[in-house]
Formats: sequence, structure tokens, C-alpha cells
Amino acid sequence: MTTPDVLVVGGGPGGAAAAHWLARDGADVLLVEKRRYPRSKTCGDGLTPRAVRQLLDMGFEFGDEVHRIVGLRAYAGDLVMELPWPRHTIYPDWGATLRRADLDEQVARLAVKQGARLVEGTEARAVVEDGRLVAVDLVADGATTRIEPRVVVVADGSLSRFGRSLGAHRRRDYPYGLAVRGYYRSPKSRDGFLESQLDIRDAQGRSMPGYGWVFPLGDGTLNVGVGVISTFRGWKDVNTSRVLDAYLEQLRDPWELDDEGPLEPPVGGKLPMALSVGPRAGANWVAVGDAAGAVNPFNGEGIDYAYETGRLAARYVLEELADPGGGHLRAYARALEDAYGDYHRVARAFVVAIGNPHVMRTLTRVGLRSRPLMEWVLKVMANLLEPEEVGMAERVYLAIERIVAAGPEPRVRR
Ligand SMILES: Cc1cc2nc3c(=O)[nH]c(=O)nc-3n(C[C@H](O)[C@H](O)[C@H](O)COP(=O)(O)OP(=O)(O)OC[C@H]3O[C@@H](n4cnc5c(N)ncnc54)[C@H](O)[C@@H]3O)c2cc1C
Repeated sequence: MTTPDVLVVGGGPGGAAAAHWLARDGADVLLVEKRRYPRSKTCGDGLTPRAVRQLLDMGFEFGDEVHRIVGLRAYAGDLVMELPWPRHTIYPDWGATLRRADLDEQVARLAVKQGARLVEGTEARAVVEDGRLVAVDLVADGATTRIEPRVVVVADGSLSRFGRSLGAHRRRDYPYGLAVRGYYRSPKSRDGFLESQLDIRDAQGRSMPGYGWVFPLGDGTLNVGVGVISTFRGWKDVNTSRVLDAYLEQLRDPWELDDEGPLEPPVGGKLPMALSVGPRAGANWVAVGDAAGAVNPFNGEGIDYAYETGRLAARYVLEELADPGGGHLRAYARALEDAYGDYHRVARAFVVAIGNPHVMRTLTRVGLRSRPLMEWVLKVMANLLEPEEVGMAERVYLAIERIVAAGPEPRVRR
């Protein structure tokens, strides 16, 4: 195997997008994926209009197997509101759902179409000397090949072993998500809304910490999951599988779930948020997607941010190839801050605020009775503000703070 100029480690959304944009502009790119496609990935399989934009830009064809999504249905107990995606000058007004096994393979093949080489079933391991990445071992079927690419794009996901061996680590004071999902059969899988539940109750009617989702896949099945954020009180003690069971009871009638249970055992995963993982660049490497902690704390969306950061990284890696040692990789790390820093600051404050059950209750009770407020909330949470509306995220957050401050004090349970 000839050494490429750029090695991309990991064939998920972040790696495939980086490889796509690098190859499109003529770089010699090798994309290595540890597993073989089609490979599953623990995910909600939900694509917002931002993700659809990135996919369209990469030439992804939305065929009949892709289920179109017209908006979000938000529930808090019995309160419910259906919110269509907003009209936007850049992003389409539709989203989609598609199992990651299908999505990720198709996007990796689009990178190959641009000229990237793809090797599956191959694990990349960093060779580090004196804290510096000097080579990469590619391990497949017990055989190891050592290569010395000029630049490495680290796109190995939320566990990011490769990134950690380069010294990257997660900030513990930043929010972090844990979620579990399963697939269930339902005659209503052609529903056109992503559904979220902000008030999950157990069999005795007590509120459970965390939020739930139902993402219909249009093929007779639903992706159902629950998540919890590290800002929630006692989040470490939350048994997400138990919360999922309680949530499924709530869904049984409205979604006409049968008694079959999950089609395969539910699986859990981690969501590193708000660019919580760093450093995100070194002398000859950059990190993208979950390996950079790029998940949006407002809504747990990470596919789009993996595409976006992969694309952004490609631009700076190309500059580095043209002008070696010109500091372009560290400029990428600064560009990430410029692109997402302000938004994440508001998002971090928001998830700290909703970590208080009183705030969450007040917010959902007031919010779900006010369509204009919820339309703004959706725009902010899905990051669908117009360029001239930047700063609106902060204003919506301040409005939320005022609503909560005006709400009744929490009743103390003795
Ligand atoms: C339960 C759950 C639900 C979620 N729901 C949604 C959702 O509905 N919508 C959304 O937008 N986001 C969702 N997310 C987040 C989303 O899944 C991630 O943000 C996204 O997959 C990040 O893409 P990535 O390319 O950075 O990493 P990944 O998708 O994890 O891809 C990393 C790839 O690298 C490979 N790899 C790892 N190590 C190596 C190595 N050493 N060598 C070679 N290959 C390697 C892996 O096999 C994998 O294919 C969810 C996450 C969880 C846990």
C-alpha cells in the first residue's frame, strides 16, 4: 500500500466527508475503516435540514429508501406541538431518517467517487515518539503496514482511541450525553415527524430524568431511544435502559407497538458535546466529528457536525499540503471556535439550566403553549438561524431565563 499524503482514520460521517472534500480538490487520500460496510452505528438515524444540506453538497441521492421528515413533534406529558422545519435561505425545509449502516456506506462510496482510496477491515494505530505522531500502523488480519502520511485526519468517533494516543482528552466541565436506542416495529413508521418527549414517566407516573425520541424510518420500523445529559442531577445513576422501558410503555398505544419487543437488543453510546475534546489539531493532524467532541448540546445531533467539521478540516489540510509548516492545521482549530464557539456557549448554559427539573418543567409547560416561542426554540436548537439572526440564540436563551424566573417555585417533596 503506497503512503498517501493524507490518511483519514475512520469511515463514519466525519471521515467520509473529510475524504470527500480532500479528494475532490485533488489530494491523495486514504480512508481507513476498522469495520466492514455495511456496519451498524448506535444512533437515532435522524438527519436535520443541516445534515441534508451537507449530503446534497456531496451529491447524495435521496432515493425512496430515505424517509423524509417534515418537522419536529415535541411532547411534554400530554402537551404536544408539531413544528415544521423553518424555511431557510441555505438549508432545505426537510430532514430525513436512514439507518446508519446504509447512510455511512453510501457517503464513504461518494468519497471514493471523488478519488479517495478506501480500505475496510483495517485499524489505524498511531505511532507516537516524544509526543509527536511519526507514523501510523495499519493493522488488518494480523498483518501490520507502517505508513508515514503527511497529515492525518482523526475521525474515529466518540471513544477516539487514536485521538487519545495523541493526547486528546475530554473536558469534564463540558456537557456530555449518554443515550440508548432500539428498533421496534410499528404500522405508523411512515409518520413524517421526528418526535421527542421531554417528560418521561415511570409506571407510577413519576418523572424520569432524560428525554426520549421516536424517529420513524418509513420501513415498518421506528428508532426509539432515550438520552441523559451530564448536567442532569444524578445523571450517573440513571439507568437509561430502565428509562427506555418506561418510555416504551408510554409509546405502546399511540405508536401501536406490538409485544415483539426490540428487533435487536438496544445499544447505548456516548455523545461528546460542545467541542469538549481537545486539542483538536497538532503539528501533523486534525480531529473532526465526535473525535473533536462536535455534537450539538441543544439536540444531540452529531452527524451534521461531523460532516461540517470534516469539510472544514479538508480546507485547512489542503492549505497545509500546499504550504507545509504554515500553521494551517492549528488555524483549523481556531476556525472551529469561530464557527461554533458562541453557539456552544449558549448551548452549554442551556443544558446546565435544564439540568434543574424545575426549569425543565416550567419551560416545557410555557413553551408548548406558545407556538412563536417554540418556533424560535426549534430554529435555535437545530441551528437553523439565518446569518442575520446570529445572536438570536442568546436572545432566545435570555427569554427562556425570564420565563423560568417568572414561573412558580418548585414544590419541595418531603
Ligand atoms: C444513541 C445515540 C443516538 C444518536 N442519534 C443521533 C441522531 O439521530 N442524529 C445525529 O445527527 N446524531 C446522533 N448521534 C450522534 C452521532 O451518532 C455521532 O455524532 C456521529 O456518528 C459522529 O460521526 P463520526 O464520524 O465523528 O464518528 P462515528 O460515526 O463514530 O464514526 C467513526 C468510525 O471510525 C471507525 N474507527 C474507529 N477507530 C478506528 C481506527 N483506529 N481505525 C479505523 N477506523 C476506526 C469506526 O468503526 C467508525 O466507523 C447519536 C449518538 C448516539 C450514541
